[in-house]
Amino acid sequence: LNYQAARFLISAPTLAKCPSDGGAEVAFAGRSNAGKSSAINALTRQKALARTSKTPGRTQLINFFVLGEDTDHRLVDLPGYGYAKVPEQVKLEWQRHLADYLRRRASLRGLVLVMDVRHPLSEFDQTMLGWADDQDMPVHILLTKADKLKAGAAKNALQQVRSRLREWEDLVSVQLFSALKKQGLEEVHQRLDDWLLS
Ligand code: GDP
Repeated sequence: LNYQAARFLISAPTLAKCPSDGGAEVAFAGRSNAGKSSAINALTRQKALARTSKTPGRTQLINFFVLGEDTDHRLVDLPGYGYAKVPEQVKLEWQRHLADYLRRRASLRGLVLVMDVRHPLSEFDQTMLGWADDQDMPVHILLTKADKLKAGAAKNALQQVRSRLREWEDLVSVQLFSALKKQGLEEVHQRLDDWLLS
């Protein structure tokens, strides 16, 4: 698939406002600041397709991108979670929308979970993994900002995350990634192709 042809389609505040549920899509999730927007921009080789989430207002929306004219294959940017300045009530609301989306979106083929390689598997990352597991939804974890660690340390982090997720290895795969260095792009594209074209 041509990821460089990705373009913004629509933002939706709730599942009910999402575009029609046909074709296939892959969703990106992660803690605020993990590097999710940068990963989407790197994967599509665009500078500002996914806005880096500095403003909490923007992050509450589910953002849909289509691959060129082909609206049957979509990338979905889910609200970042754990944004510190957001009131508890609003956080719970986002979580409800996320859970709703994961549970009920028929065209969803897989979830890319973006984590800072230095702080993987936060509490809510684990909640997301649990929800994905409940749906038998495959998950691909990007341990991003790998450029922040020396090669050996990054490898160790990868092994540690893999061993912590051993019980889920049928459903979950993990790789190192860096949006800054464009490291790991092919591996992600391969996974997205597998999901979107199957
Ligand atoms: P989001 O909130 O998950 O969408 O995170 P952003 O993509 O906005 O990134 C958060 C911060 O991390 C920004 O300052 C980015 O420049 C930085 N960042 C994102 N990806 C990388 C990466 O691969 N390497 C490095 N060194 N910094 C990154």
